[in-house]
Amino acid sequence: MPIISKCCICNITLSPDKAIKCDKCKNLLHSACSGLSESEVHCIINKERRIIYHCDECNKCQSELLDLKQLLVSLKSEIDELKNARSQIQNTNFETLMDDHYEDIIQEINERQLRKGNIIVYGAMENNNAKQDIQQVQEVLAQIDPIVSDIQFSAFRLGKFDPNNIKPSPIKVILKDEYVRNIVIKSSQLKRIEAFKHLSISFDRTPKQISYYRKIKKQLDERVANGETNLKIKYVRGIPKIINLN
Ligand SMILES: [Zn+2]
Ligand SMILES: [Zn+2]
Repeated sequence: MPIISKCCICNITLSPDKAIKCDKCKNLLHSACSGLSESEVHCIINKERRIIYHCDECNKCQSELLDLKQLLVSLKSEIDELKNARSQIQNTNFETLMDDHYEDIIQEINERQLRKGNIIVYGAMENNNAKQDIQQVQEVLAQIDPIVSDIQFSAFRLGKFDPNNIKPSPIKVILKDEYVRNIVIKSSQLKRIEAFKHLSISFDRTPKQISYYRKIKKQLDERVANGETNLKIKYVRGIPKIINLN
């Protein structure tokens, strides 16, 4: 009794000598079920064929296998990265890291403490004369409030004098007193006096405070660019915050 073969696609019997055989799973299928052109079928049915034929099912398995291989490769590299990160963490001395961090914080607090009685005066005419700088500051303070007009202070320019500078270097003024400093900062009188219009006064901020302010300013600019209105930066307990005036 001859072996009855069935097509692996349509499940209908076929004669093995006219069937196409998959070189991978060895299943047989009708040439019409193979989806191949007549000439391709001709080549494949040829007993001495050199080309290899894989049925759709085997091709699908093949490509799934390739996908799996790729997935394995990427998983392996992810695992390697994680292993690397873990060994880096194990090699980190967290105690030292925390100690350094605390030192940084304490240093920053000290630095702010030292600066809290200071102001910075921008825009004051400069001609490399320390006495004249002191006098300029004296005149400014005298305009602000009678309380601060005869206060003791010291002052010096930040940065070296350069006659080619278009912008004068700022003057650091050490008022020694936070209360006095606040009176000076809050004064809005300077803008109204013609001779002092070009001057501005600010807190003596640490580099960390300056970079934090810039970060807040950038956030403000982004929100304004996105259409928000009436926003303003306000210092709340010495920390700049974005306030909505609406
Ligand atoms: Zn078939
Ligand atoms: Zn196959």
